[in-house]
Amino acid sequence: MDLLNTLVDKGLRRETPTRAEALAVLATSDDDLLDVVAAAGKVRRHWFGRRVKLNYLVNLKSGLCPEDCSYCSQRLGSKADILKYTWLKPDQASQAAAAGLAGGAKRVCLVASGRGPTDRDVDRVSDTIRAIKDQNEDVEVCACLGLLSDGQAERLREAGADAYNHNLNTSESTYGDITTTHTYADRVDTVRKAHAAGLSACSGLIAGMGESDEDLVDVVFALRGLDPDSVPVNFLIPFEGTPLAKEWNLTPQRCLRILAMTRFVCPDVEVRIAGGREVHLRTMQPLALHLANSIFLGDYLTSEGQAGKADLEMIADAGFEVEGAGEVTLPEHRAGGGCGSHEGGGACGPAVTDSSASAPEEPRTDLVAVRRRGAGTDLAPNA
Ligand code: SF4
Repeated sequence: MDLLNTLVDKGLRRETPTRAEALAVLATSDDDLLDVVAAAGKVRRHWFGRRVKLNYLVNLKSGLCPEDCSYCSQRLGSKADILKYTWLKPDQASQAAAAGLAGGAKRVCLVASGRGPTDRDVDRVSDTIRAIKDQNEDVEVCACLGLLSDGQAERLREAGADAYNHNLNTSESTYGDITTTHTYADRVDTVRKAHAAGLSACSGLIAGMGESDEDLVDVVFALRGLDPDSVPVNFLIPFEGTPLAKEWNLTPQRCLRILAMTRFVCPDVEVRIAGGREVHLRTMQPLALHLANSIFLGDYLTSEGQAGKADLEMIADAGFEVEGAGEVTLPEHRAGGGCGSHEGGGACGPAVTDSSASAPEEPRTDLVAVRRRGAGTDLAPNA
């Protein structure tokens, strides 16, 4: 397919595809799916080899959020029966992180529900970062605490944070349908603050919220414009008790096309398969490793993932290897603090292919399991 040859060439040169090309990837038929995966897989292997980076989530504070993000089980008014607890103490968080690191994770993601941290919260998280780094010198720590005020990113950096996550989630034009208590511009501002403070920016999306192909292309192009080092791609987990509980729009094939499109648009960036992979990719997860070079190990913030051991077996069986603590994730031009700048442009791609894509099947609510172990409980974590 000319489209795929063009996209591979551009991916290897870090050249931005056109919107038409990105849309064409999403519109490919199921008959062409393996060709799409193979093409995006070439780009993935060029920049990241066969390495898979493992990241481990620690939910520092769960539920009780005043914001109304409609995809989120921790939102204001959520009826989801999730764990709810206030800030973990530094030693509790460090203990939870240690389980993930022992399981092979090289990055710990410290997440707290809420609109954004107070200065006291930043102190708290700074103590937690120091506690984790005291125990594990090589660990990468990413904080995800919501919208940042001036100076907070710098303080987190001083405390030892390596990265900051704040997702754009969806396109600017549909953001107001998903959340009313803050804006898309607020989110962009926080990603920029993290970048400016010297933190590695991590920002991604959620697919499956009823968005169009154009919305997905919009958000992925917006992410490329912000130049994050990592892009987590979440697939909506439609929690009972949230406004999006009935949004079962994804098939494994659609998830693969979304990951492939993200890889073509952000070729040299750590593309991470984030929440929802077990629910929506299901037995197709190993194919997704040809597109993404990073996953979360074990459980998510409020839902359970597959057993950490199963993640490791899947990686080995698919012919990939877990990235070691001493290995550098990003290509040299990014890892050295380089700009990661992207040469844009390029000719318009071929016409959109007619899609014969499979339709969404019956909702798989049986695959959505609320987290009942690990951080905030007395039970051992999954790692
Ligand atoms: S996504 Fe974050 S800010 Fe939005 S409701 Fe959930 S915890 Fe709150």
